[in-house]
Amino acid sequence: MSPTPASASISPPIPARYYPAGGDAHGHPARLAWQDDALQISVEDLPALTVPVARLSVEARGFNHSQWALSWAGDDHDAPHLLIVDDTVVSPLRAVMPGHFTGGDGRRRSTRRRFGLGLGLLVLLPLLGIAALLLSLDPLTDRVVRHIPPEVERHIGEAVLAHTRLEGPMIESGPAHAALQTIGKRLARPGETLQFHLADRPELNAFAAPGGVVVVNSALMARAASAEEVAGVLAHEIAHVELRHGLRQLVCSAGLRVIVSALFGDFGALGGWAAQMGELKFSRDAEREADQRGLEHLTEARIDPRGLLDFFRTLAHQDSGDTRLPGLLSTHPASAERSAWLEAAIQTLPLTPWQPLDIDWASATGRRE
Ligand SMILES: [Zn+2]
Repeated sequence: MSPTPASASISPPIPARYYPAGGDAHGHPARLAWQDDALQISVEDLPALTVPVARLSVEARGFNHSQWALSWAGDDHDAPHLLIVDDTVVSPLRAVMPGHFTGGDGRRRSTRRRFGLGLGLLVLLPLLGIAALLLSLDPLTDRVVRHIPPEVERHIGEAVLAHTRLEGPMIESGPAHAALQTIGKRLARPGETLQFHLADRPELNAFAAPGGVVVVNSALMARAASAEEVAGVLAHEIAHVELRHGLRQLVCSAGLRVIVSALFGDFGALGGWAAQMGELKFSRDAEREADQRGLEHLTEARIDPRGLLDFFRTLAHQDSGDTRLPGLLSTHPASAERSAWLEAAIQTLPLTPWQPLDIDWASATGRRE
Protein backbone atom coordinates (compact mmCIF):
# COMPACT_ATOMS: atom_id res chain seq x y z
CA MET A 1 0.00 0.00 0.00
CA SER A 2 1.39 3.39 -0.86
CA PRO A 3 1.98 5.70 2.10
CA THR A 4 -0.67 8.40 2.46
CA PRO A 5 0.22 11.82 3.87
CA ALA A 6 -1.04 12.05 7.44
CA SER A 7 -3.00 15.22 6.71
CA ALA A 8 -4.99 13.47 3.96
CA SER A 9 -5.51 10.17 5.74
CA ILE A 10 -8.91 11.05 7.15
CA SER A 11 -11.33 13.61 5.81
CA PRO A 12 -14.17 15.39 7.63
CA PRO A 13 -17.47 13.50 7.23
CA ILE A 14 -19.28 14.16 3.96
CA PRO A 15 -23.10 13.93 3.88
CA ALA A 16 -24.58 11.65 1.19
CA ARG A 17 -27.50 9.32 0.53
CA TYR A 18 -26.97 5.57 0.32
CA TYR A 19 -29.10 3.47 -2.05
CA PRO A 20 -28.74 -0.23 -1.27
CA ALA A 21 -28.97 -2.99 -3.90
CA GLY A 22 -32.47 -3.66 -5.17
CA GLY A 23 -33.57 -0.14 -6.04
CA ASP A 24 -34.68 1.35 -2.71
CA ALA A 25 -35.86 4.62 -4.24
CA HIS A 26 -35.72 6.66 -1.07
CA GLY A 27 -32.18 5.91 0.07
CA HIS A 28 -30.69 6.32 3.54
CA PRO A 29 -28.76 9.24 5.03
CA ALA A 30 -25.06 8.37 5.04
CA ARG A 31 -21.75 9.95 5.98
CA LEU A 32 -18.58 9.40 4.03
CA ALA A 33 -14.99 9.71 5.13
CA TRP A 34 -11.75 9.03 3.37
CA GLN A 35 -9.20 6.88 5.19
CA ASP A 36 -6.19 4.85 4.02
CA ASP A 37 -7.04 4.86 0.30
CA ALA A 38 -10.59 3.73 0.93
CA LEU A 39 -14.00 5.29 1.32
CA GLN A 40 -15.61 4.62 4.70
CA ILE A 41 -19.40 4.68 4.46
CA SER A 42 -21.53 4.96 7.61
CA VAL A 43 -25.24 4.46 7.04
CA GLU A 44 -27.97 4.91 9.64
CA ASP A 45 -29.19 1.52 10.91
CA LEU A 46 -26.94 -0.41 8.52
CA PRO A 47 -23.45 -1.95 8.88
CA ALA A 48 -20.57 0.32 7.85
CA LEU A 49 -18.96 -0.25 4.45
CA THR A 50 -15.41 0.21 3.20
CA VAL A 51 -14.77 0.59 -0.53
CA PRO A 52 -11.18 0.77 -1.87
CA VAL A 53 -10.51 3.57 -4.35
CA ALA A 54 -9.70 1.13 -7.14
CA ARG A 55 -13.30 -0.10 -7.15
CA LEU A 56 -15.00 3.31 -7.10
CA SER A 57 -16.54 4.84 -10.18
CA VAL A 58 -18.00 8.33 -10.10
CA GLU A 59 -20.57 9.92 -12.41
CA ALA A 60 -21.99 13.46 -12.52
CA ARG A 61 -25.77 13.54 -12.08
CA GLY A 62 -28.61 16.04 -11.90
CA PHE A 63 -29.69 18.81 -14.24
CA ASN A 64 -26.73 21.04 -13.69
CA HIS A 65 -24.36 18.14 -12.99
CA SER A 66 -23.92 19.28 -9.42
CA GLN A 67 -24.54 15.84 -7.93
CA TRP A 68 -22.26 12.83 -7.87
CA ALA A 69 -23.20 9.16 -7.96
CA LEU A 70 -20.56 6.82 -6.55
CA SER A 71 -20.79 3.12 -7.35
CA TRP A 72 -18.51 0.15 -6.84
CA ALA A 73 -20.46 -2.92 -7.95
CA GLY A 74 -21.18 -2.14 -11.60
CA ASP A 75 -23.42 0.38 -13.35
CA ASP A 76 -26.58 -1.69 -12.97
CA HIS A 77 -29.55 0.40 -11.83
CA ASP A 78 -30.05 -2.03 -8.94
CA ALA A 79 -26.42 -1.96 -7.75
CA PRO A 80 -25.75 -0.19 -4.45
CA HIS A 81 -24.63 3.37 -4.85
CA LEU A 82 -24.20 6.70 -3.10
CA LEU A 83 -25.49 10.10 -4.12
CA ILE A 84 -23.75 13.29 -3.04
CA VAL A 85 -26.27 16.03 -3.70
CA ASP A 86 -24.17 18.96 -2.55
CA ASP A 87 -21.25 19.59 -4.87
CA THR A 88 -19.58 21.92 -2.37
CA VAL A 89 -18.77 19.03 0.00
CA VAL A 90 -16.86 16.82 -2.44
CA SER A 91 -13.59 18.74 -2.35
CA PRO A 92 -11.94 16.32 0.13
CA LEU A 93 -12.75 13.45 -2.24
CA ARG A 94 -11.67 15.42 -5.29
CA ALA A 95 -8.35 16.10 -3.57
CA VAL A 96 -7.61 12.38 -3.15
CA MET A 97 -9.05 11.17 -6.44
CA PRO A 98 -8.96 14.10 -8.86
CA GLY A 99 -9.46 11.87 -11.90
CA HIS A 100 -12.87 10.69 -10.66
CA PHE A 101 -14.69 13.98 -10.16
CA THR A 102 -14.58 15.28 -13.70
CA GLY A 103 -17.30 16.03 -16.22
CA GLY A 104 -19.38 18.03 -13.77
CA ASP A 105 -20.56 21.61 -13.92
CA GLY A 106 -19.38 23.41 -17.03
CA ARG A 107 -17.86 26.25 -15.08
CA ARG A 108 -15.67 23.74 -13.27
CA ARG A 109 -14.54 21.98 -16.42
CA SER A 110 -11.43 23.41 -17.94
CA THR A 111 -11.89 25.62 -20.95
CA ARG A 112 -9.09 23.70 -22.61
CA ARG A 113 -11.07 20.52 -22.43
CA ARG A 114 -14.14 22.15 -24.00
CA PHE A 115 -12.06 23.64 -26.74
CA GLY A 116 -10.45 20.26 -27.26
CA LEU A 117 -13.84 18.74 -27.83
CA GLY A 118 -14.88 21.61 -30.10
CA LEU A 119 -11.71 21.43 -32.16
CA GLY A 120 -11.98 17.67 -32.34
CA LEU A 121 -15.43 18.02 -33.83
CA LEU A 122 -14.20 20.73 -36.20
CA VAL A 123 -11.65 18.31 -37.61
CA LEU A 124 -14.48 15.84 -38.01
CA LEU A 125 -16.79 18.33 -39.78
CA PRO A 126 -16.43 16.74 -43.25
CA LEU A 127 -17.48 13.46 -41.72
CA LEU A 128 -20.61 14.86 -40.09
CA GLY A 129 -22.85 13.87 -42.97
CA ILE A 130 -21.83 10.26 -42.54
CA ALA A 131 -21.99 10.60 -38.76
CA ALA A 132 -25.56 11.89 -39.02
CA LEU A 133 -26.54 8.70 -40.82
CA LEU A 134 -24.77 6.63 -38.22
CA LEU A 135 -26.63 8.43 -35.46
CA SER A 136 -29.52 6.11 -36.00
CA LEU A 137 -27.25 3.64 -34.22
CA ASP A 138 -28.04 4.05 -30.56
CA PRO A 139 -24.56 3.65 -29.03
CA LEU A 140 -23.14 6.54 -31.08
CA THR A 141 -26.05 8.82 -30.15
CA ASP A 142 -25.47 7.94 -26.52
CA ARG A 143 -21.80 8.84 -26.80
CA VAL A 144 -22.57 12.20 -28.39
CA VAL A 145 -25.27 12.94 -25.80
CA ARG A 146 -22.91 12.06 -22.94
CA HIS A 147 -20.40 14.62 -24.21
CA ILE A 148 -22.76 17.58 -24.51
CA PRO A 149 -21.55 20.05 -21.87
CA PRO A 150 -24.00 21.39 -19.26
CA GLU A 151 -23.72 24.95 -20.59
CA VAL A 152 -25.10 23.79 -23.93
CA GLU A 153 -28.01 22.20 -22.07
CA ARG A 154 -28.61 25.49 -20.26
CA HIS A 155 -28.64 27.39 -23.56
CA ILE A 156 -31.13 24.93 -25.02
CA GLY A 157 -33.37 25.53 -22.01
CA GLU A 158 -33.11 29.29 -22.49
CA ALA A 159 -33.92 28.97 -26.21
CA VAL A 160 -36.99 26.85 -25.40
CA LEU A 161 -38.18 29.37 -22.81
CA ALA A 162 -37.66 32.29 -25.20
CA HIS A 163 -39.67 30.45 -27.85
CA THR A 164 -42.46 29.69 -25.36
CA ARG A 165 -42.67 33.38 -24.41
CA LEU A 166 -42.94 34.31 -28.10
CA GLU A 167 -45.77 31.85 -28.67
CA GLY A 168 -48.15 33.35 -26.13
CA PRO A 169 -48.66 35.02 -22.76
CA MET A 170 -47.07 33.73 -19.57
CA ILE A 171 -48.60 33.99 -16.10
CA GLU A 172 -45.98 35.53 -13.84
CA SER A 173 -47.92 35.92 -10.58
CA GLY A 174 -51.13 34.93 -8.80
CA PRO A 175 -52.28 31.84 -6.90
CA ALA A 176 -51.70 29.28 -9.69
CA HIS A 177 -48.18 30.62 -10.24
CA ALA A 178 -47.46 30.51 -6.51
CA ALA A 179 -48.83 26.95 -6.28
CA LEU A 180 -46.56 25.86 -9.12
CA GLN A 181 -43.52 27.34 -7.35
CA THR A 182 -44.46 25.49 -4.14
CA ILE A 183 -44.71 22.18 -5.99
CA GLY A 184 -41.45 22.85 -7.83
CA LYS A 185 -39.58 23.69 -4.64
CA ARG A 186 -40.59 20.36 -3.13
CA LEU A 187 -39.45 18.44 -6.21
CA ALA A 188 -36.05 20.10 -6.70
CA ARG A 189 -33.13 18.37 -5.02
CA PRO A 190 -30.50 20.42 -3.22
CA GLY A 191 -28.21 22.09 -5.73
CA GLU A 192 -30.62 21.69 -8.64
CA THR A 193 -31.55 24.90 -10.40
CA LEU A 194 -34.97 24.09 -11.78
CA GLN A 195 -37.20 26.87 -13.13
CA PHE A 196 -40.97 26.51 -13.21
CA HIS A 197 -42.92 28.65 -15.67
CA LEU A 198 -46.68 28.91 -16.14
CA ALA A 199 -47.92 29.46 -19.71
CA ASP A 200 -51.44 30.80 -20.32
CA ARG A 201 -52.57 28.10 -22.80
CA PRO A 202 -55.76 26.06 -23.37
CA GLU A 203 -53.93 22.79 -24.20
CA LEU A 204 -53.36 20.25 -21.44
CA ASN A 205 -49.61 20.17 -21.59
CA ALA A 206 -46.43 20.39 -19.56
CA PHE A 207 -42.86 19.78 -20.61
CA ALA A 208 -39.35 20.14 -19.30
CA ALA A 209 -36.45 21.30 -21.46
CA PRO A 210 -32.73 20.57 -21.01
CA GLY A 211 -31.13 22.73 -18.37
CA GLY A 212 -34.09 22.23 -16.00
CA VAL A 213 -36.61 24.62 -17.57
CA VAL A 214 -40.11 23.32 -16.79
CA VAL A 215 -43.17 24.82 -18.51
CA VAL A 216 -46.72 24.03 -17.39
CA ASN A 217 -49.84 25.19 -19.22
CA SER A 218 -52.60 26.90 -17.20
CA ALA A 219 -55.14 24.37 -18.54
CA LEU A 220 -53.23 21.52 -16.94
CA MET A 221 -53.25 23.25 -13.56
CA ALA A 222 -57.00 23.88 -13.93
CA ARG A 223 -57.79 20.29 -14.91
CA ALA A 224 -55.70 18.62 -12.19
CA ALA A 225 -57.74 17.59 -9.16
CA SER A 226 -54.88 18.12 -6.71
CA ALA A 227 -51.38 19.54 -6.34
CA GLU A 228 -50.13 15.93 -6.14
CA GLU A 229 -51.41 15.29 -9.68
CA VAL A 230 -49.42 18.24 -11.02
CA ALA A 231 -46.38 17.13 -9.00
CA GLY A 232 -46.67 13.67 -10.59
CA VAL A 233 -46.68 15.10 -14.12
CA LEU A 234 -43.74 17.39 -13.30
CA ALA A 235 -41.71 14.57 -11.75
CA HIS A 236 -42.21 12.56 -14.94
CA GLU A 237 -41.15 15.49 -17.14
CA ILE A 238 -38.12 16.24 -14.96
CA ALA A 239 -37.12 12.58 -15.29
CA HIS A 240 -37.13 12.95 -19.10
CA VAL A 241 -34.60 15.79 -18.73
CA GLU A 242 -32.43 13.96 -16.25
CA LEU A 243 -32.37 10.90 -18.50
CA ARG A 244 -31.53 13.23 -21.40
CA HIS A 245 -34.34 11.93 -23.59
CA GLY A 246 -34.93 15.36 -25.15
CA LEU A 247 -31.25 15.90 -25.84
CA ARG A 248 -31.15 12.52 -27.52
CA GLN A 249 -34.01 13.59 -29.77
CA LEU A 250 -32.16 16.82 -30.52
CA VAL A 251 -29.07 14.93 -31.60
CA CYS A 252 -31.17 12.53 -33.67
CA SER A 253 -33.50 15.03 -35.33
CA ALA A 254 -31.60 18.32 -35.47
CA GLY A 255 -28.30 16.61 -36.12
CA LEU A 256 -24.75 17.25 -35.04
CA ARG A 257 -24.59 20.62 -36.84
CA VAL A 258 -26.74 22.23 -34.15
CA ILE A 259 -24.61 20.72 -31.39
CA VAL A 260 -21.34 21.72 -33.06
CA SER A 261 -22.63 25.29 -33.52
CA ALA A 262 -23.61 25.40 -29.86
CA LEU A 263 -20.19 24.12 -28.80
CA PHE A 264 -18.72 27.07 -30.70
CA GLY A 265 -21.05 29.49 -28.93
CA ASP A 266 -23.62 29.86 -31.73
CA PHE A 267 -26.91 29.04 -30.06
CA GLY A 268 -29.09 30.51 -32.82
CA ALA A 269 -29.60 27.14 -34.46
CA LEU A 270 -31.18 25.85 -31.26
CA GLY A 271 -34.14 28.22 -31.64
CA GLY A 272 -35.81 26.28 -34.44
CA TRP A 273 -35.48 23.07 -32.58
CA ALA A 274 -36.79 24.64 -29.38
CA ALA A 275 -40.18 24.95 -31.06
CA GLN A 276 -40.54 21.16 -31.04
CA MET A 277 -39.69 20.71 -27.39
CA GLY A 278 -43.27 20.57 -26.14
CA GLU A 279 -44.28 18.12 -28.86
CA LEU A 280 -41.55 15.53 -28.50
CA LYS A 281 -42.58 11.93 -28.72
CA PHE A 282 -40.52 9.45 -26.79
CA SER A 283 -40.37 5.71 -27.18
CA ARG A 284 -42.44 3.49 -24.92
CA ASP A 285 -39.22 2.42 -23.16
CA ALA A 286 -38.27 6.05 -22.54
CA GLU A 287 -41.75 6.76 -21.14
CA ARG A 288 -41.53 3.84 -18.76
CA GLU A 289 -38.05 4.88 -17.69
CA ALA A 290 -39.34 8.41 -17.01
CA ASP A 291 -42.31 7.02 -15.06
CA GLN A 292 -39.96 4.93 -12.92
CA ARG A 293 -37.54 7.79 -12.29
CA GLY A 294 -40.47 10.16 -11.70
CA LEU A 295 -41.85 7.85 -9.00
CA GLU A 296 -38.42 7.83 -7.36
CA HIS A 297 -38.37 11.65 -7.40
CA LEU A 298 -41.81 11.80 -5.81
CA THR A 299 -40.84 9.30 -3.12
CA GLU A 300 -37.69 11.26 -2.37
CA ALA A 301 -39.78 14.44 -2.03
CA ARG A 302 -42.38 12.54 0.07
CA ILE A 303 -45.13 13.46 -2.39
CA ASP A 304 -47.85 10.83 -2.79
CA PRO A 305 -46.99 9.22 -6.18
CA ARG A 306 -50.60 8.20 -6.82
CA GLY A 307 -51.08 11.74 -8.15
CA LEU A 308 -49.27 10.73 -11.35
CA LEU A 309 -51.53 7.72 -11.82
CA ASP A 310 -54.67 9.75 -11.02
CA PHE A 311 -53.80 12.44 -13.53
CA PHE A 312 -53.26 10.02 -16.41
CA ARG A 313 -56.47 8.18 -15.49
CA THR A 314 -58.43 11.44 -15.49
CA LEU A 315 -57.02 12.29 -18.92
CA ALA A 316 -57.80 8.86 -20.31
CA HIS A 317 -61.44 9.08 -19.21
CA GLN A 318 -62.17 12.67 -20.07
CA ASP A 319 -60.50 12.94 -23.43
CA SER A 320 -61.51 9.77 -25.20
CA GLY A 321 -63.98 11.75 -27.32
CA ASP A 322 -62.02 14.96 -27.56
CA THR A 323 -60.89 15.65 -31.10
CA ARG A 324 -58.55 18.41 -29.94
CA LEU A 325 -56.06 15.94 -28.57
CA PRO A 326 -54.02 17.66 -25.88
CA GLY A 327 -50.25 17.62 -26.29
CA LEU A 328 -49.62 15.66 -23.15
CA LEU A 329 -51.98 12.89 -24.24
CA SER A 330 -50.62 12.66 -27.75
CA THR A 331 -47.06 12.49 -26.47
CA HIS A 332 -47.80 10.42 -23.38
CA PRO A 333 -50.33 7.73 -24.24
CA ALA A 334 -52.51 7.16 -21.17
CA SER A 335 -53.20 3.55 -21.99
CA ALA A 336 -54.76 1.05 -19.63
CA GLU A 337 -51.48 -0.86 -19.78
CA ARG A 338 -49.59 2.16 -18.54
CA SER A 339 -52.02 2.75 -15.68
CA ALA A 340 -51.68 -0.88 -14.65
CA TRP A 341 -47.91 -0.67 -14.81
CA LEU A 342 -47.85 2.55 -12.76
CA GLU A 343 -50.15 1.04 -10.18
CA ALA A 344 -47.91 -2.01 -9.81
CA ALA A 345 -44.76 0.16 -9.66
CA ILE A 346 -46.29 2.29 -6.89
CA GLN A 347 -46.94 -0.88 -4.87
CA THR A 348 -43.21 -1.67 -4.93
CA LEU A 349 -42.14 1.75 -3.56
CA PRO A 350 -40.81 1.80 -0.01
CA LEU A 351 -43.39 2.63 2.65
CA THR A 352 -43.05 6.37 3.00
CA PRO A 353 -45.04 8.79 5.13
CA TRP A 354 -46.32 11.17 2.43
CA GLN A 355 -46.36 14.84 3.32
CA PRO A 356 -49.27 16.64 1.63
CA LEU A 357 -48.35 19.70 -0.41
CA ASP A 358 -49.36 22.76 1.57
CA ILE A 359 -51.56 24.31 -1.12
CA ASP A 360 -55.26 25.25 -1.09
CA TRP A 361 -55.89 23.70 -4.50
CA ALA A 362 -59.43 25.09 -4.94
CA SER A 363 -58.12 28.64 -4.44
CA ALA A 364 -55.01 28.05 -6.52
CA THR A 365 -57.09 26.95 -9.50
CA GLY A 366 -59.83 29.53 -9.04
CA ARG A 367 -62.55 26.99 -8.22
CA ARG A 368 -63.48 28.66 -4.98
CA GLU A 369 -66.25 31.23 -5.35
ZN1 LIG B 1 -43.16 11.36 -21.00
